[in-house]
Amino acid sequence: MRILISNDDGIHAPGIFALARELRSLGEVTVVAPDKQQSAVGHAITMNTPLRVVPYSRDGELFGYAVDGTPADAVKLAVRFLLKDKPDLVVSGINHGSNTAINILYSGTVSAATEGTVLGIPSFAISLATYAEPDFSYAAKFAARLAGLIAERGLPPGTLLNVNVPPVPESEIRGVLLTRQGKSSWEDTFDVRRDPADREYFWLTGKMVVTDTEADTDQVAVHNNFVSVTPIHYDLTDLVMLEQMQAWGVEHLK
Ligand code: MN
Repeated sequence: MRILISNDDGIHAPGIFALARELRSLGEVTVVAPDKQQSAVGHAITMNTPLRVVPYSRDGELFGYAVDGTPADAVKLAVRFLLKDKPDLVVSGINHGSNTAINILYSGTVSAATEGTVLGIPSFAISLATYAEPDFSYAAKFAARLAGLIAERGLPPGTLLNVNVPPVPESEIRGVLLTRQGKSSWEDTFDVRRDPADREYFWLTGKMVVTDTEADTDQVAVHNNFVSVTPIHYDLTDLVMLEQMQAWGVEHLK
């Protein structure tokens, strides 16, 4: 199995290292990832400036290729240019921090996997739901198991998996739940500061406000120490509204 690994925390991040080390047991792993922190860049791509790629070594060995772009750039460039053969699987992560509920929209981690899906490759994103000191070992093991299952089952075109792992020892993981995306969102605040020239600037901060209560949402499942696996797709069409809007008479707007 040929596996492409990327992330949004950057190629130096411990999460991508743990993931690559574990997935090497399944086949040929290539790492192509942003050369720096790219969290919350979503599905941005680079069009108006060049992209550069440099080999990146770790512990004296070639670990992968660092791209001075976004997660989606890294996957696109890998599949379209750097890799000799199309990978069988794209895995993005392991992100340091959860990608549940509204975070999926902003997530570079999820977008790297989405890009794999756009390019017709089965893909999943995996995140460890903590901002504290992380231990990626169980999440990496889970990623390898899921990769094996996807190799067996396949994924339909347009669909990827978004995985969130609770930050507890393996013995405290209660199980694996199939979930849907929650609706919890951020209460944004802007920290207003002044630069040395006394000009005002803003720094986005805030906190996640958990409004989800149902056990089958990604947000609640992870909180309850279950590994959460959510199938998502990039087709944003609202099929229910499409049907309801037939009665709107939009054709008369012409
Ligand atoms: Mn990140």
